[in-house]
Amino acid sequence: MSRFTDKVAVVTGAAQGIGAATARRLAEEGAAVAVVDLTAERGEAVAAQIREKGGTARAYGCDVADLDAVEVVFARIVEELGGLHILVNNAGITRDNLFFKMPKADWDTVLTVNLTSAFNCAQAAQTYMVKQRYGKIVSLSSRSALGNRGQANYAAAKAGIQGLTATLAIELGPYDINVNAVAPGYIATAMTAATAERVGSAPEEHQQLAAERTPLRRVGQPEEIAAVVAFLAGDDASYVSGQTLYVNGGAR
Ligand code: NAD
Repeated sequence: MSRFTDKVAVVTGAAQGIGAATARRLAEEGAAVAVVDLTAERGEAVAAQIREKGGTARAYGCDVADLDAVEVVFARIVEELGGLHILVNNAGITRDNLFFKMPKADWDTVLTVNLTSAFNCAQAAQTYMVKQRYGKIVSLSSRSALGNRGQANYAAAKAGIQGLTATLAIELGPYDINVNAVAPGYIATAMTAATAERVGSAPEEHQQLAAERTPLRRVGQPEEIAAVVAFLAGDDASYVSGQTLYVNGGAR
């Protein structure tokens, strides 16, 4: 009997990076995992890898910024995987720019994909979770929520995740639903590689600079975030709700 035996987990943005590591971790510990990403094709490699290791996973295509699409795909997941107990709101994007030249469209897109998508998925998920009086919602915030040059849109969205988390914990707590957030620092993924490219550095050089500013003197790996998401999604964290846990190598 593993920690997530008989649990169904939905992980958004699970085709790569932190989402893929989280899908793998939850599956390794017994969960049936819905690998949700923009298209099912994008998520299929992660789902197949989980199945090859003896786990249960299916890839689903869904733009989580679209509430109607989320409701449809969550209903399919419940039917095909047999429930919905854990939701990990991980899908996210960046469109960095200094504020004075940030296009309004980039503000809107980043707020929609990083914050409104969490509203969409949590609202769709809670209908199942409230009925069964059990649920775990874990959303990805970021250290950038405290402010980060060139990320007015992203920082606002990730700070919004913290407010949403605190409020959903209050409203859904009476139904035995725990709602928490994880705020990673610099994690080596395609997202941070793209940031490196945008500022004209190689990913390794950019990571080295971030490592030097970090007390643990290294950047984080997706699996180190997945482990914390798994803790918050599990019953060891049964009395933890409304919290944002910073996972950033000790940076203040
Ligand atoms: P990533 O870019 O490697 O992966 C993000 C995934 O989300 C991609 O597979 C992408 O296709 C998917 N996605 C994007 N928009 C989507 C949409 N509308 N619908 C469905 N899927 C969508 O990113 P990552 O670095 O693994 O980051 C994962 C999460 O962690 C994000 O929310 C990110 O903001 C957050 N985060 C990352 C870092 C970091 O350093 N990498 C730090 C703090 C927070």
